[in-house]
Amino acid sequence: MKPLLKLTDVNSYYGKIHALNNINLEINEGEIVALLGSNGAGKSTTLKTISGLIKPKSGSIEWNGKSIVGAPVHKIVESGIIHVPEGRRIFSGLTVTENLELGGFTYRKDKKWVKEGIERSFDLFPRLKERAKQLAGTLSGGEQQMVAISRGLMANPKLLMLDEPSMGLAPIIVQEIMRIIREINKQGTTILLIEQNAKAALRLANRGYLIEIGNIVMHDTAEVLREDDKIIKAYLGA
Ligand code: ATP
Repeated sequence: MKPLLKLTDVNSYYGKIHALNNINLEINEGEIVALLGSNGAGKSTTLKTISGLIKPKSGSIEWNGKSIVGAPVHKIVESGIIHVPEGRRIFSGLTVTENLELGGFTYRKDKKWVKEGIERSFDLFPRLKERAKQLAGTLSGGEQQMVAISRGLMANPKLLMLDEPSMGLAPIIVQEIMRIIREINKQGTTILLIEQNAKAALRLANRGYLIEIGNIVMHDTAEVLREDDKIIKAYLGA
């Protein structure tokens, strides 16, 4: 089976800073893949490179067998790749529903389609339905993260890339977010998950990649990574 997304020898830079060094990564349809690594390792840069925000200097990125290197961001979005960035950039002065509407309309100017997207989100996050008219800025951190994920889902993505969805959240909320990510995956969306919380990520993922200073240093099934000494010592807090 061909991978849904395949990065081959991808190199990305910020000026002279070589942030990604010959990255090779594959994601198959239906998988949850975790991208692990400490601060500054290159996780966000990997997502930005896939979503077209950063153009790699060399290497190939194939999506459904076609190159997307150099494609405009909106084309990449239209092709089904959605990136939910770190830090839940939601509109705090707008209600939950307005945030989702705005998200939906950036993808497609179709009222019925947007309405259906919001209903899907509310099925997935009943807590957001209860808070539909509440200003997003007054929500808890976990609820704001739910809005950010829901907004990404408005596009009906094939691949949802989540950058640190658990950041700053209490453990019980992290569990809930992880449960919802599993549910999104069950409903047919492939997931690329960036996490510093390796424990939570490896519980959820099928496979994982470990990135250190711009290099993929390990990749395997989540089962194997959970038992790996280096991962345990450096990332699982043992
Ligand atoms: P974090 O979780 O801290 O965001 P990360 O693994 O996502 O970590 P990246 O944000 O991808 O790391 O950063 C990779 C490297 O690129 C780091 O050395 C970082 O300092 C550098 N970098 C990131 N963004 C920029 C930028 N806009 N300009 C210059 N260097 C950057």
